[in-house]
Order: sequence, then C-alpha cells, then structure tokens
Amino acid sequence: MKNPNVNRTASLPCPHCRPAAPSACSGLDGAAHVYSETAGMTQNALFERLWAGTAAMEEWTAAVSDGAITPIGDDIISVHTTYFCGNVTAIRSEAGLILIDTAKPETARRTLELVRTWDASPIHTVIYTHGHIDHTSGITVIDAEADATGAPRPRIVAHRNVQRRMERYEASHGYNSLAQGQQFNKPGYVYPIGQRRPDTIYDDRLSLTIGGVALELIHGRGETDDATFVWMPEARVLASGDFVIWMFPNAGNPRKVQRYAAEWAVALRTMARLEPAVLIPGHGPVIFGEARAAQVLGDGADALEHLVGETLRLMNQGATLDQILDAVKVPARFLQKPYLAAKYDDPEFLARGIYHFYAGWFDGNAAHLKPARTADVASELAQLAGGADKLAARAAQLSDDGRTRLAVHLAELAGAAAPEDAHIQAIRATVLKAAIDGETSLMAKAFLGVYLRDAERRSNG
Ligand SMILES: [Zn+2]
Repeated sequence: MKNPNVNRTASLPCPHCRPAAPSACSGLDGAAHVYSETAGMTQNALFERLWAGTAAMEEWTAAVSDGAITPIGDDIISVHTTYFCGNVTAIRSEAGLILIDTAKPETARRTLELVRTWDASPIHTVIYTHGHIDHTSGITVIDAEADATGAPRPRIVAHRNVQRRMERYEASHGYNSLAQGQQFNKPGYVYPIGQRRPDTIYDDRLSLTIGGVALELIHGRGETDDATFVWMPEARVLASGDFVIWMFPNAGNPRKVQRYAAEWAVALRTMARLEPAVLIPGHGPVIFGEARAAQVLGDGADALEHLVGETLRLMNQGATLDQILDAVKVPARFLQKPYLAAKYDDPEFLARGIYHFYAGWFDGNAAHLKPARTADVASELAQLAGGADKLAARAAQLSDDGRTRLAVHLAELAGAAAPEDAHIQAIRATVLKAAIDGETSLMAKAFLGVYLRDAERRSNG
C-alpha cells in the first residue's frame, strides 16, 4: 500500500463494474467513467451521447452538479462540479497529493470533499494550469484545510505569467468585474482577486518528480499567456488545462485581453505528439482512449490553423478587417464536431483576435481611425432619414427580413439618436432580441444581451 491515508473503499467503481476495477468493466468502451458519490450513477452512456453530439453539455453539468469523480487508474482522479468550473485532478504520491487546479469559490469546498473521500493525505503541491479564477481560487479552501489540520500549505507551481495576470486583475478589477458580469449575465458581479500566488514558477518546461511521480509541465499560449499543460508519462495521462474545453477554442472573447489562436494550435500539436491514453480537458468530461484523444487534439489544431491561415492569407493581400470577417469561415466539418461547437466563443471573434494579434486595433476603415462621437453620427443620420423613428422602422423591417446585422446597426443608431424615446427603444429591444435568438455562442448572446436589457429599461421608462 503506497499511502496509509488512502481510503480505498471510497474509490468506488461504477455500478456496471462493481466490484471489478474500472479497466475491467465491460461497459467502459473507452468512455469516461464517472461515478457520482451522491447520485451513485455512471455517466458512460451520457459520455457516448456527448461524443455522438446527441446530448448537450448542460446535461453533463446537471449530472455532475453534486460533484462527481472520474477515476483514472488507481492513483489519479478528476473531480467535476459543473461545465463552468475547471476540472480538478488529484494524483497520489508518496509525498502527498498533487492537485492540478483548485476549482472556484462556489465549487472548491465540494471538490475538496470529494478528493477527501478518495484520499486523506496532505496536499503537497498545487499546479495552476493558468490564472483564471475557476482554476485558482479554490486555493483558499485548500489552504484553510491545511491550516486547520496543522499541515503545511501546499507549494503552488505555475507559469511565470500567472503572477503577472493576478497583478493585472488587481489593476483592472472594476473593469474585469463588469466584463465578467456581462459575459455570464450576473449584474453586480465582483471578480475574486487575491488568490495566493505561485511559489515555484517556470518559463518553457519544468520536469518535477514529487513523491515518486514524474510530471512534465509544458507552457503554451492559447486562451491565456500563462498556460500549462501537464503530462504524466508513466500513466500516459495528459491534463490539458483550457487548451481543450469541449467547445470551439475560446480565443476570441470580445472583452478580454489578446488571445493566441496560432500558438493554441501549436500546443495542441505538441500534446498530440505525446500520444496520451487519457485526456483530461480543462472543462467537460475526461476523454479515454488514444484514438479519441488524438482526434480531439488534431481536430482542434486543424480548425485553429484553418482560421489563422485564412485570416493571414487575406491580411497579406491587403484585406481590411471588414473583408476578413465576411470571408473567413470555419468549415462545418469542424463546427459539427461535438467538442468544437461554437457554443461558447464564436469563430468570427477568433478571426478578429487573429487580425488584432498581427495588425493592432485599426480595422482599415478611415472613419474608425479618429471617429466622431456615436451620438453625433446617429443624430446626423436620423435627421437625414427624416427622424430616428424612420431609422427604427427600417431596423424592424430589416430584422423581419432576416438581415439581422444591418438591423442591429440601424437600431443602435436610432437608439443613440433618441435614447429617451420609449417606442424607439422598444423596437431596438425587439431587433436585439431577434439577433440574440439567431446566435449560437454564449458570448454573442451575452454581450448583445447587455444592450437588450438597456433597451428594455429605456422602453419601460
Ligand atoms: Zn477554465
């Protein structure tokens, strides 16, 4: 027995394979093997439906919402609480537990409880895959547990830029709270800051051996500039962090700092070369089997390389951002993959991000270099049209005709020309509502929703 603190009885296999080991389970089929402590259910069938694209991720979130463990061999588990929180992976070692990520304030306590049903050893090391709060902020709960038991607080290991990110979140705290509140429709949201910072940092690669367990930490840029993926060579398990999220890569978020689509693809290629047998994504269920892991990594890289390649090709020919957004599309063969659906970020936002990465903020439209105030443009056009209500009426007509983008332009101009006109604001709200209904991504819906709520408020006033 490796460790006297191990509670082996709590590491239950699923009802399919009890009492045999999960690897012997006839129902396993290389699929994720989630056992929920509370519900006592297996998620094999659900994984297969997610993989086939016939189940939505909301169903998975519902299934794991009381907290669920995916056993990955004898000494590794992954803990899940909702799609919207990073998975937490726990690894046994002779020195104590190693955790990859920590969950977020709402889920950290339950996550740690589940880890403790599996192993009671002190937590020796925590690795942050990056500095987003759904991966780092559970450290507070982990430290509090260590303090209560008199154990030393774990060492935190992360990429050098995690520290810089945390400093940036403090400098832009008001903005970041607002942007996050808009993205997830939580007005008044306050972004948690002040997480404990890394004790050990690295730049490109870091090889660790902790209590006999070898870990390879590899840096790449993708969603963030501070990302780490963790390779466990003995078990051939890869914890990708948010390089894999069961959605189209989140590399174009409209209200966040620059992201790195091209380097994201490079990181996925590096991961694929490791040939993992198990892929633990940053969010969503664990992917078992070499072939499936390779497929997810390869498809993600292909889709990103397509977007980057097409955007650059047009940029190099002198295209403006306007032309690029119209021309660059991700082929349906990628978007149809259940793990690449554009339900969170939107590929069009990625094209913008790629443009911005190479070209800066100017979009190539002379009027946007030193623009007039929006309200001035709006009242000028309203006057030309014969009144803001004419602009609003045309917006409604365009919206009815399915020309949503143009409709939103005119509705916003009408609204800016007549901010206190309840009737015009009501039309604006209708146009925005139709635009939201036509979008698939959480981000497009969420950021349009900010203006829908504004229009609704004004139309009732
Ligand atoms: Zn995340």
